[in-house]
Amino acid sequence: MKSFDELLQQSTAVHGHICAGQVIGVRMCILALSLIDIDDPKGVDRKKLYTIVEIDRCATDAIQSVTGCSLGKRTMKFLDHGVMAATFVHLETGKSVRITALEEAREHALKYCSGIENKYARQLEAYKVMAEDELFRVEHVHVEIPQQDLPGRPMRRVKCDKCSEWVQDSRDIQVGGQTLCHGCAMGRYYSVIND
Ligand SMILES: [Zn+2]
Ligand SMILES: [Zn+2]
Repeated sequence: MKSFDELLQQSTAVHGHICAGQVIGVRMCILALSLIDIDDPKGVDRKKLYTIVEIDRCATDAIQSVTGCSLGKRTMKFLDHGVMAATFVHLETGKSVRITALEEAREHALKYCSGIENKYARQLEAYKVMAEDELFRVEHVHVEIPQQDLPGRPMRRVKCDKCSEWVQDSRDIQVGGQTLCHGCAMGRYYSVIND
């Protein structure tokens, strides 16, 4: 595993700026991967790791940078829950941890870097040195990942009976004997202006 500084540098480059979220994301990964015995997530262990992120904010980019997991590789699942937490799953052993960034850490930052005037700069620096148990809550968990959510070729690919778009990975929905795409079954998030 690379050093914290090296990982932070990489994630900052990917994310586009340094921020508290990068520090939290990188530290979260270092802790999580050590707890589930993954040492080289982008190398020899690259097919063993699956992550589930619960928020689409800065730290998520750091998690992607450190773990190499991504939506496109289907090794990262995004649950839009708005919680600063992520779960790390070892696909071979099943060993999994869910780590939550603690809200109280914002207060603890004062204790570590009281000399820094700006609140955000203080948090950023404090999160680098803060004790793990002040920064995170760790839960050892069991996660059942559905077969159709795992990497690899799609197990199912069907055509929508209504709009003829193709739907992969069992995301089709059966309604009254019809096989429909999400948009046709549940309504669309867009409206077409010109066709
Ligand atoms: Zn950021
Ligand atoms: Zn459709």
